[in-house]
Amino acid sequence: MPTNAELIAREDYVNARNYNPIPVVISRGEGVWLWDVEGKRYLDMLSAYSSISHGYVHPRILKALTQQAALVSVCSRAVHQDKMADFLETLCRVVGQDKALMMNSGAEAVETAIKVVRRYGYQVKGIPSNQAEIIVMSGNFHGRTMGIISFSSDESYKKDFGPFLPGFKIIPFGDIDALKAAITPNTCAVLTEPIQGEAGIIMPPDGWLKAVETVCRAQNVLLVVDEIQSGLCRTGRMLACDHEEVKPDIVILGKALGGGFLPVSAIAGKCAVIDVLDPGSHGSTFGGNPLATAVGKEALDVLIDEHLAKRSAELGAYLLERLHAMQSPYVTAIRGRGLWVGVDIDPNQITAHDLCTALMHKGVIARQTHKVTIRLAPPLVITKDELDWALKRIEKVFSTTT
Ligand SMILES: *Cc1c(COP(=O)(O)O)cnc(C)c1O
Repeated sequence: MPTNAELIAREDYVNARNYNPIPVVISRGEGVWLWDVEGKRYLDMLSAYSSISHGYVHPRILKALTQQAALVSVCSRAVHQDKMADFLETLCRVVGQDKALMMNSGAEAVETAIKVVRRYGYQVKGIPSNQAEIIVMSGNFHGRTMGIISFSSDESYKKDFGPFLPGFKIIPFGDIDALKAAITPNTCAVLTEPIQGEAGIIMPPDGWLKAVETVCRAQNVLLVVDEIQSGLCRTGRMLACDHEEVKPDIVILGKALGGGFLPVSAIAGKCAVIDVLDPGSHGSTFGGNPLATAVGKEALDVLIDEHLAKRSAELGAYLLERLHAMQSPYVTAIRGRGLWVGVDIDPNQITAHDLCTALMHKGVIARQTHKVTIRLAPPLVITKDELDWALKRIEKVFSTTT
């Protein structure tokens, strides 16, 4: 049996350096638990950024996957396949939209939404050719493709990758006046996360998203909400938009849509918006393959059947309460919604990275985002006992010098 260190050493020679992982080599997962190659067990408080909301190897989703894999996994979009209607009907019902379009990764779905709103801007709104503008938020994270990093405000995502795609205007997140001032007759859409995940679970002021929706409606601007990380029960509701009863023109989903097994993403929206795409205008070889639709359908059904929105709301409130009660010399702020919490660390006391390393030694996987925030976002299937197990260790690491 190879050790963690041996495998990491081998990997270092052949793997690109675009990540800097925790020195643990995972070989198995089940529920909220992960095991490394040396047999050590960890509770995962990261859930692959909401991709593992259903927990590792959910038995129902595994069954859907293996049954479908034995029938047909991939077929070209030159033909129809029998699981497509089931999946899309369920997805549209669950998110309250008319039509959807499937892709694979989250970034592809964001790119798809950008194409759709630009085309809507030209064909329906009458914006002059190649003049469409999309308003985005500072601190945004929507993925890593060239199009998407073109409107990132994070220099490390962009350094030496230019030239970039024009047509985006960045405004401060949570600032409704800035939005009003930024809209022009050429604005086709506003694109935002409801809560910024990668930026550190940054929450806008209460009522901001609702105000954005009102402004968009009044100005004939489409509202596109990226719920790739926040959606599918993460914040205690099916969508984070639901907290303010906001109904976007397009909602973007990914991560948990794959049930912890596959990359499955989609945009869902109103007929009049999605219907600007005609045959040949957009596509993806693997988007909407039979395996993805079977897994995605089961993933959505499990969220509902297991009441994971309710569990996220209840256990999330409990997690926040316990964290607020914790005596820690390191913590400067705690915020979150549902099982999606950001804990800010005072960098003058200790680095978030060092705290995460100490957590790893105690059997808890967590990770810093943007150096000073530790994100706590366990699989939504976590039980109270399991959460207590993690909290005991978090409290210990956060209260004592390590
Ligand atoms: C992760 C994420 C993406 C990108 O998804 P990928 O599957 O990594 O391409 C886009 N938007 C948000 C809000 C995300 O959290």
